[in-house]
Amino acid sequence: MHRRDILRLAGAVAALGAFGPAASAASGGRVVVVGGGFAGATCAKYIRTWSPGTEVTLVEASRDFISCPMSNRVIAGMLGMRDLTRNYRALESRHGIRLVHDTVTAIDTDAREVRLASGASLAYDRLVIAPGVDFAYETMPGLESAGAQRLMPHAWKAGPQTLDLRQRLTTLREGGVFAMHIPKVPFRCPPGPYERACLVASAMKRFNPRGKVLVFDSNPDILAKRDLFFHSFVSEYKGIIEYIPNAGFESANAAQGRVTFDVHGEVDADIWNVIPPQRAGNVARTGGLANVDNRWCEVDFLTYESRVVPNVHIIGDSIASAPGTPKSGHMANQQAKVCAAAIAALLAGRAPSDEPIIANTCYSFVNDKEAMHVAGVYKFDAEKRTMVSVPGSGGLSPSSSSEEGFMAVAWIFNILNDTLS
Ligand SMILES: Cc1cc2nc3c(=O)[nH]c(=O)nc-3n(C[C@H](O)[C@H](O)[C@H](O)COP(=O)(O)OP(=O)(O)OC[C@H]3O[C@@H](n4cnc5c(N)ncnc54)[C@H](O)[C@@H]3O)c2cc1C
Repeated sequence: MHRRDILRLAGAVAALGAFGPAASAASGGRVVVVGGGFAGATCAKYIRTWSPGTEVTLVEASRDFISCPMSNRVIAGMLGMRDLTRNYRALESRHGIRLVHDTVTAIDTDAREVRLASGASLAYDRLVIAPGVDFAYETMPGLESAGAQRLMPHAWKAGPQTLDLRQRLTTLREGGVFAMHIPKVPFRCPPGPYERACLVASAMKRFNPRGKVLVFDSNPDILAKRDLFFHSFVSEYKGIIEYIPNAGFESANAAQGRVTFDVHGEVDADIWNVIPPQRAGNVARTGGLANVDNRWCEVDFLTYESRVVPNVHIIGDSIASAPGTPKSGHMANQQAKVCAAAIAALLAGRAPSDEPIIANTCYSFVNDKEAMHVAGVYKFDAEKRTMVSVPGSGGLSPSSSSEEGFMAVAWIFNILNDTLS
């Protein structure tokens, strides 16, 4: 499918704003959104846009929005943390959303209210849960304690650990080793670890040319943009990146900088970046919403309402994704709009659309200038009750290029504006 067609189809979701749900202006009702990431912030904004009579409260633990997309470039010293950081002011001042900076500690689905760490409660007619992911460290012997986890940071939520890895890379001894562990899918952003390996290698090439990047992947092969990443590993980063598939994590000795893998034995490195297995954000699990393997939340893809708890919608990384679809910020943003349109309709007593179409584009940088993308378009399949790839849609860059590097930067500006402005 042509890029033009992908954009046209993606526009179908955005176009809902101009026509469909606007009719529900006077619907009223109270919606509480938990989590102001790509999913929650977008959903809060679009409920207010399409259903201005609805009172929307967004509960977000952090003061600032910090983007994971582009955070690998911070680790490699190509951007600073301020390039990833945005505020929530426009959601309050322009969209009339009530921002509460607090943590939701419990969901009472009978009383239809959420409880906050501060002790307050918020009542809802519809609840949207968008807490992203949390980490299954209890499955990683040696990394159960917070102290051990700090010694082998994941940097899979952008923030202090991103800077920590940046700092460690800056002070790495000459010829030192940066080693990564990639968990089994599903996890947030399947191309992200391979992008990180390339960008760390790119930094090494400039500042520490005898340094090494070891990539221990629990999966049998590179999970996304396979041939493109493989090409970078064996050409641009030949002699720097070593890729090791089927590397099952057994245990870690964080104090000694050592990880033991099933078939590869003990490996020592100067810097360990251990990305743990992931699951729905804790609040979704404790709220009884994670009905798939006690890990992910099953939803109705027409409304993103939970399959187990009525009036509660889940969007973003926490859901049990439709087969073949990634957990990404772009998908989170698109799911949020479908969910917002459905909530606007339901509050107004109308049926939600039964033919949602969403799109995903994911750019990865391979060095300081060049990027590549993969794109897909997905529609609702009424028989399978899930999202399926639109035949003939999707596309992959033939190679990385600096033109795509520009497009990747435009993408992040656009999606951050769509989410927060
Ligand atoms: C290195 C890296 C690179 C990436 N690159 C890309 C990319 O190029 N393109 C792309 O599309 N995606 C990318 N992603 C994936 C993307 O970041 C995630 O898919 C996206 O953030 C998911 O959005 P979300 O809203 O579900 O979760 P998040 O964005 O993590 O938001 C969840 C929010 O909920 C809040 N929260 C959680 N629990 C509570 C609670 N109990 N109370 C209050 N608040 C709470 C958190 O503070 C957080 O702000 C990347 C990810 C990583 C790690």
